[in-house]
Amino acid sequence: MKFATRLVNFEPAPRDPYKPIVTPIYQTATFTRETMDAEAEYDYSRSANPTRAVLERQLASLENGSHAFCFSSGMAAITAVTRLLRSGDQILSDLDLYGGTCRLFSRVLDRSGIRACYADALDPDAFAKHLTPATRLVHIESPTNPLFHILDIQRLSEVAHAHGALLSIDNSVMSPYLQNPLDLGADIVIHSGTKFLGGHHDVTCGAVIVKDEALAKQIRFISNAEGAALSPFDSFLLLRGLKTLKLRIDCQQKNALSVARWLAARKEVTQVFYPGLAEENAYQLHHRQAAGPGSVMSFTTGSVTLSKAIAESTHLFHIAVSFGSVSSSVSMPATMSHASVPPELLAQRQLPRDLVRVSVGVEDEEDLIADLHQAFEKAARLHPSASRAGA
Ligand SMILES: *Cc1c(COP(=O)(O)O)cnc(C)c1O
Repeated sequence: MKFATRLVNFEPAPRDPYKPIVTPIYQTATFTRETMDAEAEYDYSRSANPTRAVLERQLASLENGSHAFCFSSGMAAITAVTRLLRSGDQILSDLDLYGGTCRLFSRVLDRSGIRACYADALDPDAFAKHLTPATRLVHIESPTNPLFHILDIQRLSEVAHAHGALLSIDNSVMSPYLQNPLDLGADIVIHSGTKFLGGHHDVTCGAVIVKDEALAKQIRFISNAEGAALSPFDSFLLLRGLKTLKLRIDCQQKNALSVARWLAARKEVTQVFYPGLAEENAYQLHHRQAAGPGSVMSFTTGSVTLSKAIAESTHLFHIAVSFGSVSSSVSMPATMSHASVPPELLAQRQLPRDLVRVSVGVEDEEDLIADLHQAFEKAARLHPSASRAGA
């Protein structure tokens, strides 16, 4: 079956006697057994819950994996993956990385003797030189957030495997509709389900998807032991949101391409970062490993003041962190989502302070462009000199 069909056609409630058409919210903490010695399929909701189990089967299937595990947030999902490591092990990551992941790697894991190192993964051969015998995990995003570098997932998985490390990839910016990294050699796919999977800004969730039985066993053990698994109600919201994943992304992506082209044509905009407009090599690579450019992008104006004024003058783009929702949003990564990056790393990453990140929703395309138009005009009126400097 094709992706669109799989999104809505799955077993919603295995073994439920009432045959509901939608997965029920099994809002129960524990499950009774017939006798003291009887084995039960479900025992306690921290370990497994029928609502969450349907969601996990569905996500595993959509990512072409064998097992998925859902957590209370994307960060809880990433944390679970890092629990595969022990004191003395190292993580090697790309320089352009979600701010919260950086914070976890550099300011929390160091307390347990796990070291995170960062290197530019755009050139896999140069990146390979940074792997050491202690590197157990290579963690990347592609496209990266917020600069939308395109990394060669297959080459990087070969690099990781050649050194006996696992490759995990945070696929939140793409979703399983646009990119399936397990097919490209990745061992672990992570999602912040808060973004495209849920798609409505009403739930925080994370997922870990694997294709290997032994790895699945370890993640299941960690999830049960640490207790950050997703609640039945939040699992229900994810199941509901997921059904429209393709519809939403088809619409958002179409809008996003128009917005990106419009931005690229504005005299105030110095650069647009978007896989749909990337330079030739990156564009080709992205289209070899993904089915579309997505609907998140960023741009610079050459002036922090002007960027800020533009973001603050929009009406349809809400000033908010996060992306992937049906409603458009705008943020400035340097002071918002990526403010948690340690200063020394921020300097190494060269994250532009005037960078504006835009997540395009399902609104009418003309309304979105009209709103950006009035925001740019207003910002230019408020800051004429900044606007000229950026021209
Ligand atoms: C938002 C985000 C996360 C963190 O997910 P939460 O659900 O907010 O915990 C991780 N990775 C990426 C790429 C994200 O955008």
